[in-house]
Amino acid sequence: MRDGLAAELSEVIADRARVLSAPAVLDRLSHDFYWYSPVLRPLLAGKVGDVAVQPVNVEEVLAVLRYAGRNEVPVTVRGAGTGNYGQCVPLEGGIVLDLSLMDKLEEITPAGVAVCQPGLRLGALETEARKLGWELRMYPSTLVKASLGGFLGGGSGGIGSVTHGGLRDFDTVRAIEVVTMEELPRVVLHEGVAVHEILHAWGTNGVITRIWFALTQAVEWAQLTVAFDSYEQAFRFARSIAMDATWRKRLATVFEWPIPSFFTPVKPIVREGKAMALIMIASDQAGALSAAASLAGGEVTFCGPYEGPRTQPLLSDYSWNHTTLWAMKADPAYTYLQCGFSPKECEEQFRLLREQFGDEMLFHIEFMKNADGVVTPGAIPVVRFTTEERLNEMIAYCRSIGVFVANPHVNYLEDGGRFRADNIQLLAKQKYDPRGLLNPGKMISFRKEAVTK
Ligand SMILES: Cc1cc2nc3c(=O)[nH]c(=O)nc-3n(C[C@H](O)[C@H](O)[C@H](O)COP(=O)(O)OP(=O)(O)OC[C@H]3O[C@@H](n4cnc5c(N)ncnc54)[C@H](O)[C@@H]3O)c2cc1C
Repeated sequence: MRDGLAAELSEVIADRARVLSAPAVLDRLSHDFYWYSPVLRPLLAGKVGDVAVQPVNVEEVLAVLRYAGRNEVPVTVRGAGTGNYGQCVPLEGGIVLDLSLMDKLEEITPAGVAVCQPGLRLGALETEARKLGWELRMYPSTLVKASLGGFLGGGSGGIGSVTHGGLRDFDTVRAIEVVTMEELPRVVLHEGVAVHEILHAWGTNGVITRIWFALTQAVEWAQLTVAFDSYEQAFRFARSIAMDATWRKRLATVFEWPIPSFFTPVKPIVREGKAMALIMIASDQAGALSAAASLAGGEVTFCGPYEGPRTQPLLSDYSWNHTTLWAMKADPAYTYLQCGFSPKECEEQFRLLREQFGDEMLFHIEFMKNADGVVTPGAIPVVRFTTEERLNEMIAYCRSIGVFVANPHVNYLEDGGRFRADNIQLLAKQKYDPRGLLNPGKMISFRKEAVTK
């Protein structure tokens, strides 16, 4: 650690109580949910920042980045630390820039665009938006904890994506204000397509300090679970709902048995040995959906309203990557993959995977609209971990049969599935962080020498 780092930063920040160096605090603020991956767990456990700073406004962010740049100290941005791949773990120590105190919702415009600071929690935004007749287009299942800045920095989509696509689609992120790590750090506004320079770049090429985030009109939602004798039945039923635009839905999820058995807090809605579909549907369509479920051979095991993030039970707590959490609670030997199946070939792909891996891979499907407006079966299969080699074999086999895999067991952007083929995140890093001080080690295609020579 650089001598006097905390003391010097205390001169830069208005209140020295917001410069933190207690080891337990640093340890907490340096980690996320990377432990979902048995591969990343040993690699990242010991990595900690030297100091954490909690700015309250853009001027303080600028001041910290100026200081860090002058002294060549790495800076790793942190929202709420719910990322899954050690995205906010500082590999080379330095400053953890914790933005949790920059959490204001400045306004929701009459056109339904939320103007927010990055530390604003998504659950708080959903709650406030619904009071005004708006709601989030999509959110991760970590809704209650995750920050909007962290979602833009490290997330991809979630509940709502079946209708509104991923975070980077359909102009959802209208504009972002970003502080650069140039020789003279400055505030840059990215609007329209320019937001893609920074989206899902893991804080490697700028610090997001303000966000213009498009909402959608609020809907009265119902949450339903339907049990089916077989996975195939559950899948076909959920697909029929997901693909048909007349159903207004926020979530279309499928769990192969025994995944539902892991959901211990909601045992009464689970049926022994049966697959389950979980659907969030406009409440005025809940009756019709129940009828369609019965026709398809399913049993509706729960139907209740969604009344915002405090709803009990909040069934989205079992969807997306929360499913993996319940699996790991039931048996720590489980981990996961992130896949995309072919809309046309998926049933054959399921068959091949089952033949190849049996119950080593359990299907968990999340339907999601892609940028072309096509609803596709995304998946976060639960997999039984034995060795890294076996996990890599599974990934290679998936890819060989046309199943897309975003590898959640690596700690760098390029293999994670959201690194842009047009390289604009890398080009932005070369421009805005030429010395490679922002979250070093996470964008491995970046070479400092290539920029500074
Ligand atoms: C149980 C569970 C379920 C999940 N489900 C989903 C899901 O459904 N969909 C999904 O997309 N993700 C999901 N995730 C991953 C994660 O929750 C989301 O990506 C979430 O949005 C991260 O928000 P955060 O505030 O915790 O970000 P953090 O973990 O704090 O940060 C994430 C990344 O963004 C960077 N970052 C943070 N703030 C900024 C900023 N202001 N400027 C620039 N970079 C920044 C960080 O450096 C880091 O690289 C899940 C994770 C868990 C543990």
